Amino acid sequence: MTALFDTHAHLHDSAFADDRDAALARARAAGVSRILTVGTDPQSAHDAIALAAAHPDVWAAVGIHPHDAATADGAALATIATLARAPRVVAVGEIGLDYYRNLSPRPAQLDALRAQLALAREVGKPVLLHCREAHADLLALLEAEGVAAVGGIMHCFSGDLEVARRALALGLLVSIAGPVTYPNARRLAEVVRAVGLDALVVETDCPYLPPQPWRGQRNEPAYLPATAARVAELCGVPAAEVARRTTENACRRLGVPRPAGA
Ligand SMILES: [Zn+2]
Ligand SMILES: [Zn+2]
Repeated sequence: MTALFDTHAHLHDSAFADDRDAALARARAAGVSRILTVGTDPQSAHDAIALAAAHPDVWAAVGIHPHDAATADGAALATIATLARAPRVVAVGEIGLDYYRNLSPRPAQLDALRAQLALAREVGKPVLLHCREAHADLLALLEAEGVAAVGGIMHCFSGDLEVARRALALGLLVSIAGPVTYPNARRLAEVVRAVGLDALVVETDCPYLPPQPWRGQRNEPAYLPATAARVAELCGVPAAEVARRTTENACRRLGVPRPAGA
């Protein structure tokens, strides 16, 4: 079986405090051979880098999440800027806009996003974008800030086909998470079919958003094959083809070595 790349996990999160090594072992046994663990503030960015340093199949991303944008002062952004240059850090993120929960004021979210897009250009690394109910503002900002220069991934994609098309035009990849396995995921299914394997990657976003069989439980990277299987069904190709293409897409965008022979 071709190896999967979990392009968005929070494996350094305290939700895995008791069984992180076991979760990693289960992921490997399930065919997940690469994991990007994603920081959301300066402390979790440190934790993500430490985890990546300890495991050759884990890489890190660092950024300040829109939920935490109110804390993105000069000192916090300076820390992220330093950490973004660390060798096993392959992306700036997660960053973005969340107008669903609005845990930080919108102006603060926009400022933090702008600052971190500038950082991504400065360090020459792609961005991981979080977006809930803010696609118009996000896309306008990405276009204005020239995100195409660094590229990136729309993580846990929740937009419609029009949003997907604009994202693709900016050179972004579309990342599909557990919700694609939910029975009511019509719009997402349509996006998967339309985008196709040229520009898709897959993720768990664990410990959040488990695929259907594990709803209500903690998510973990070992459950990624369920999401990939649903993508395969929607695209009408074998699961191995989804694994091969999405891993290739992720490795190319993130600058991570590809599996031998891929
Ligand atoms: Zn997110
Ligand atoms: Zn996340």
